[in-house]
Parts: sequence; C-alpha cells; structure tokens
Amino acid sequence: MDQRDYINLEQQYGAHNYKPLDVVLTRGEGVWVWDVDGKRYMDCLSAYSAVNQGHCHPKILAAMIEQAQKLTLTSRAFRNDQLGLFYRELCELTNSHKVLPMNSGAEAVETVIKAVRKWGYRAKGIAEGRAEIIVCENNFHGRTITIVGFSTDPTSREGFGPFTPGFKIIPFGDAEALENAIGPNTVGFLVEPIQGEAGVVIPPAGYLKKVREICTRHNIVLILDEIQTGLGRTGKLLAEEHEGIEADLTLVGKALSGGFYPVSAVLSNSEVLGLLRPGEHGSTFGGNPLACAIARTAIRVLTEENLIENASRMGSYFLEGLKNIKNPKIKEVRGKGLLLAVEFYPEAGGARSYCERLMQNGLLCKETHDNIIRFAPPLVIDEHQVDWALERIEPVLCS
Ligand SMILES: *Cc1c(COP(=O)(O)O)cnc(C)c1O
Repeated sequence: MDQRDYINLEQQYGAHNYKPLDVVLTRGEGVWVWDVDGKRYMDCLSAYSAVNQGHCHPKILAAMIEQAQKLTLTSRAFRNDQLGLFYRELCELTNSHKVLPMNSGAEAVETVIKAVRKWGYRAKGIAEGRAEIIVCENNFHGRTITIVGFSTDPTSREGFGPFTPGFKIIPFGDAEALENAIGPNTVGFLVEPIQGEAGVVIPPAGYLKKVREICTRHNIVLILDEIQTGLGRTGKLLAEEHEGIEADLTLVGKALSGGFYPVSAVLSNSEVLGLLRPGEHGSTFGGNPLACAIARTAIRVLTEENLIENASRMGSYFLEGLKNIKNPKIKEVRGKGLLLAVEFYPEAGGARSYCERLMQNGLLCKETHDNIIRFAPPLVIDEHQVDWALERIEPVLCS
C-alpha cells in the first residue's frame, strides 16, 4: 500500500470531520516523524501539544508496557495502587489540593462545569438551575454539545443545537468586561491563559492578575483551561505562573500522558471538588491504573529532563528566528515558550498552502484559520533542531 491507498481508505470509510495534510505517518521519535515512504519530518504541531515530551518517549513507553502487563482497568468501583500516587504527585507538582481524573480534555471541561455549578448551589446559595458561567469569545474548550454551545465559531456550532443554557460570553483580554458581566448568579469564569486554537492569542500583560483579583472580590471561581498551555508548553509548568497567579480550578490534559493515552484532570485549589459526593460524577476509564502509571511518568519526564526550562529557552530562540523572517504579508509573529504563531494579513490568507509547502520541505505544522500558522514542536527540541526548522521555514514564508 502507498500513501494514496491509505488516504483513499480514510476518504471512503471515515467521516470527513477533519481536513488533514496528505501525509501518512507510521513512526515517531522525539521531534521527528516518518511517513510510510520513509521520509522524515520535524513535527511542529506535537498533536496540539499532547506530545510535549517528544514522540514515543522511552521512559513513558516503558512505564506503559510495565503497567499494561500488570493491570489496566479496575473501574472506580474498586481502588488501584496507582491512583493515589498519581494524585499526590500531580498535586505536589502543581500545588493543588485535589484532583479529579478524566480522559479527554472535553471531559475535564464538562467535569469542571458540573463541579462549579454544584458549588454555586451548595456553597453560594444560588437558586437551583440558575448558575451562570462566563466564558470568552473565540474560546476553544472542546467539542461536546455543552462546550460548542458557548463557542463563538460558527463552524463548531451551526446545526448542533439546541444547546445547554447558563453561559455568558465576553471579549477575551478585557478585564473590565468580566467585571461588568458578573451578576448575582455568576459562579465562575472559564478562560484559556493563551487562546491556542484561536491562533495563539496572548492577552494584554496583567490581564490574568486583574481577572484573579475580580474573581476573588466577587467570590466566583477562576477556572483556567491549561489543556494546551499547561505542562511546560509556554516555558512554565502552567501558563498562570507568567502572571504569578493561582486559579481555583485548573484543567490539564493532552501532555499529561505524553501522547500515549487520553488522560485529563481537574485540579482544585479551592473547596469546589470537595463538594462532590459519591455517584454525582464518574467515568469508567477515568483514573485507571494504566492511565495513572503513564501520567506519573509523563510528568516526571517534564521535570527530570528540564523540558520546561528548555521550552522557555528554545521558545525565545525560535521566536527570534521567526521574527527575522522578512515578508510584508506577515502581520505579527508572537508566542510564549514553544507556543508560537505567524499571522499573515487576512487578505493574504494562504496559511494552508504554506503548510503544504513546509510539508514538502520536511516540516509539519498546521494552519489555524486561513491566515495563522502555529509552531509548537515537542519540548525536547534542541538549538540545532530549531536552526534546522528555521532553515526550512524561512524560504517558504518568504516566497
Ligand atoms: C484540545 C483542547 C481541549 C479539548 O481536549 P480534547 O482532548 O480534544 O477533548 C480543551 N481545551 C483546550 C484549550 C484545548 O486545547
């Protein structure tokens, strides 16, 4: 079978809910992936930041194999000898008090919505059915009905209603808008520290600090969705650290397993998770021993191998290189750590065709909207590899 045959199978038998680049990958190691013809590419997407630790990290792989040979799933009807250790290690790493483990990122978002609503009724005394959560324009929090219901992207929403009520949408990066939107039934504010899917949109300096202060003053819960920005991607363990704040609830996923398995979690610094009672929430696979063993090693690799520090240094170096690219069609080059983006003027468009040409040159990345390219390689990337990437990016983006 050649690339075309694999692509044809996907076209014929699969739902067409994605428009991938026409590259069929079969193997990965560190920052590199190989297609079925043996051609090598540098991965500058990292599965939307799920493989921060690099493809097929040997230590995570070993932990997965070892645990898979012992015990994979008990359900939460029984306890297992990995869960408690996973809780403690994740809490110690992130300075949290409590953890609720799930699988996909969207499930962590759904979980936090349930937990915060319950807190509103039980702790804040809001009338049943009235709790309100504030979210931001151009957010991305996942794909379930409730979540796309408060998306402002027409493609994500249209044709999927009716939606879950109880959400109010305000502009991103505008602390005053938050203050004005808070009412007597507001329970929480859900926001990404940097909007990844919207095109690596970085809010004004001081935004999160103000948001923290406003949430505290009005007794509403600050929920940071760090599923993409967390676990080292922006050069800090959590992006909230750039502004020296702590959210009440933090969502992590993606790199929590280093790309081996879907593992997500709600981290809590407040009383919110403590309010949940048996039977009120759950997941058959959430907190299973295989997931816990993988995640324990995935977070250990982040710190043991200094990947967070490396993301900060390589991110600055990569950003500087991108900023040196001269093309009048480029509107802005921006980023934090290894979450970087090049934005073209909207009328120039063409981000997809740049990505296709970069693929020909051995570098994989993906457009977000028609005019933005995100560069987010695994955090194991070294200086030599950043140079290698820039040598390929520059001629393409200048053409
Ligand atoms: C990817 C992502 C999600 C959803 O995660 P899934 O595992 O795809 O459900 C939620 N929030 C943010 C910020 C993300 O980047």
